[in-house]
Amino acid sequence: MLRRLAVAVILLAALAGCGAAPAAPPVSSEYRIDLVVSDDLSRIDGVMELRYTNQGISALDALQFFLFPNLTPGGMRIESCIVDGRPSSLTFTMNGSKARAALARPLAPGAAVDATVRYRVQVPPDSKGEYGGFARTEQTLAMAWCYPVVLSPDAWSYGFPAPYADYMVKEESAYTVTLSFPERLALAAPCAETDRRAGEGRASVTLRHGPARDFFMALGGAWTVATAGTGGTRVRCVAPAGREAAARFAADEAARALECFKKRFGPYPFGTFTVAAVPLASYGLEFPGIIAVTDRIWDLDGEVNGIPNRALLESTVAHETAHQWFYGMVGNDQVREPWLDEALTQYATWLYFRDRSGKARANGYYATFQERWNRVAREEIPIGLAVDEYGAKEYGAIVYGRGPLFLEALSDAVGERTFDTILREWVRRYAGRTATGRDFQRLASEIAGRDLSGIFDHWVWQAAD
Ligand SMILES: [Zn+2]
Repeated sequence: MLRRLAVAVILLAALAGCGAAPAAPPVSSEYRIDLVVSDDLSRIDGVMELRYTNQGISALDALQFFLFPNLTPGGMRIESCIVDGRPSSLTFTMNGSKARAALARPLAPGAAVDATVRYRVQVPPDSKGEYGGFARTEQTLAMAWCYPVVLSPDAWSYGFPAPYADYMVKEESAYTVTLSFPERLALAAPCAETDRRAGEGRASVTLRHGPARDFFMALGGAWTVATAGTGGTRVRCVAPAGREAAARFAADEAARALECFKKRFGPYPFGTFTVAAVPLASYGLEFPGIIAVTDRIWDLDGEVNGIPNRALLESTVAHETAHQWFYGMVGNDQVREPWLDEALTQYATWLYFRDRSGKARANGYYATFQERWNRVAREEIPIGLAVDEYGAKEYGAIVYGRGPLFLEALSDAVGERTFDTILREWVRRYAGRTATGRDFQRLASEIAGRDLSGIFDHWVWQAAD
């Protein structure tokens, strides 16, 4: 419902010929989080103060938190939860990964409620990095979703996340985070530090970030750091020690990718951009202002399944950087409409190789779209399905393979210059919001000046006969 209202307002603005981008809606969640990391990196004690504003059009009777660590061999134990000044008993579901805090009185649209949650996180040791950027090694701590994430009401009913896809629907939030940790460790963060104190072997750093849909950071005791700059954005890359050349390579790639996407899609919203090598089973994971890249591909002479690490690092950095626009700025329901950020990001990565590396590299990357789709024998499975409507194999083949091929077909249909305008306007009009595939179809039709439902039906919506 929140989405529909927002869309109606945007369309009215567009119909009225309003040239300026619509003002972004205010953030839903204002987080103040204090975290204390134990010396051995196995434990994090947290206090989260939250102000949540109901941006929807219906009153809410509860808040829902996603406690990601409870889906791993680690865990998050809530020690106390105060809502609106009163102790709140939580109802847990999905192996304790969803916590519902009932409200004493309904939260009307536009109204805010305060909550304070005290909790303790047990961080699992790295086991091939499969816990999505939440893991530790002896020298590294990756802190994905180490706080009770406030779920968008649209996503309250969603079931267990698929391990091969993104998990949540996140609204724009503001973060003030203070992190206390062993001083010997370096910090990889999505923003510049606003304060740092040190003493007795520990450091305490304060970070302010947002509006942003998520907050990720990592600590490392054996990192090498490379920096690069691009048009007012400071790029910092932390890589495993001894991988200096790869760190410089990734920092330069990130800077070039940012430059390319700024030109194509519009400004990047933050002053810094960080690339962090952490334990991760997939190649990369996107967060606003920071991307996680698996620590397995930093030996530039190495390869994975015959693909040189250099090519993997290059395409992973470009792909996750493109997510700063598609997911970071323009939000989407990553569970119901994963194509909307992933296919656009795949396509943007191809554009990056075309702009920067010439035809051969671009063609090589384009071939990966075909190879992916070939894995399901080019079956015309719609790209617009929800994560749980695909099997794991289909998901990669259709969303990451057939998805960008659809965007190429759309570009061919409307002309490349018009398609460039569509992508730029997509970001300008929907930055800060959660947009839908139907919004994308409407915008494309509007800019192309004709009804595009035929091509959208064929690729996005309709099941194959
Ligand atoms: Zn992606």
